[in-house]
Amino acid sequence: MLKEELKKLCIEAIDNNKEKIIQFGKNIYETPELGYKEFKTTEKVISAFKDLGQEVETEIAYTGCRISSGSKSSPVIAVIGELDSIICPSHKDANSDGNVHACGHHVQLANLYGSAIGLLNSGVINKLDGRVDFIAIPSEECVDYGYRTKLINEGKIKYFGGKQEALYRGKFDEIDIYMQCHMKDFDDGKKCIVNSKCDGFMTKIVKFIGKSSHAGFAPHEGINALNMANLAVNNINALRETFKDEDKVRVSAIITNGGDLVNVVPDTVCMEIMVRAFTTDAIIEINKKITKALKAAAFALSGSVEINDRVGYLPLKTDEKLSNLYKKNMIEYGNLSDDDFIEMYETAGSTDLGDLSQLKPCMHIWASGITGGLHTADFKVGDDYTAYVLPAKMLALTVIDLLYNNAEKAKAILDSFKANFTKKEYLEFLDKNTFIDLFDGSDL
Ligand SMILES: [Zn+2]
Ligand SMILES: [Zn+2]
Repeated sequence: MLKEELKKLCIEAIDNNKEKIIQFGKNIYETPELGYKEFKTTEKVISAFKDLGQEVETEIAYTGCRISSGSKSSPVIAVIGELDSIICPSHKDANSDGNVHACGHHVQLANLYGSAIGLLNSGVINKLDGRVDFIAIPSEECVDYGYRTKLINEGKIKYFGGKQEALYRGKFDEIDIYMQCHMKDFDDGKKCIVNSKCDGFMTKIVKFIGKSSHAGFAPHEGINALNMANLAVNNINALRETFKDEDKVRVSAIITNGGDLVNVVPDTVCMEIMVRAFTTDAIIEINKKITKALKAAAFALSGSVEINDRVGYLPLKTDEKLSNLYKKNMIEYGNLSDDDFIEMYETAGSTDLGDLSQLKPCMHIWASGITGGLHTADFKVGDDYTAYVLPAKMLALTVIDLLYNNAEKAKAILDSFKANFTKKEYLEFLDKNTFIDLFDGSDL
């Protein structure tokens, strides 16, 4: 069968289930859950996958699930949809915990489901050479550190990011190529971003430890942990002029506990810090500077600081050959023209797809169909077909391109790809940079 005929069958299957795909996305929108709490959401995906007659693998990364097109072993393409929501209490659809799908992950899951319908229900998959896994993955947003640290301490997960966790558990060992979309609001007349480069980051959970005393009659006997935190923020600000523009550095800090009683010199103050940069080397270098800034603050007041470092996500770099297949499909089957695309988007935002892109070719498309900024109260789906259905078609058509005719296109992409890490090196890198540093500044 010609490739164009396969693509037509695939599009027909998706068009015939258009309403079902849209309703599935809307149903997911009703139960927003944060990362590693996506129990209801995972159940909904499992039951939709089962309805397609598929055997579903569950708990792939604590939550999450997957179906696979069969036993053909290689190449293996993964189509990914993310399960977690964010918190945005000011959004009109936020639930009582403030949770809402204002990052469009519910749309991703509809895209995932729709592409599975297109490739599996149509029977097209049987004419291709290779395998497709449809994966609903947890915990992309790097938030809610307290809950995730608890899961880590209980031995239930090892990493904050769902893709990191699945990789660690060996769930991605057979996968050669990853594909996914995020939604974006376009205000410049464009309709699709083909390639992205994103910052990676490290997280620091920081505890300044001083000595309590009466704030009125004996402050001189105390060691003020809040003053240490204030100094730390100033030290970090003093460093900002040393950051190179091309490294796209962002250092964000919040105080999560600033003391308990106003008439007691606070002996414990906690902070969370995120250190973002455009390359892995820059992340490590800037992170060291921030550590010195924190220790200097403790040193000045003869207090201590406990710094809990952890690799957040690694920088993303998408594979241009791979993304171009999606772009061509958007032109041929999605009515877009060359002017509608932004070829490359460089951003200081981050995603755990970045980690996967250090090991294997990744495609990350920014698709249209939503309005309002991501993670804001204005976020909403503007056009159901464009958001829920069109990317499902384009993902499926791109799989056809990759696996048609002895998977020659997938193999060419894999041949020219240069990995920055093997899985073993990657996990060693994460472990090496995850540690607790306790600095005692009481002595010279
Ligand atoms: Zn997000
Ligand atoms: Zn997202």
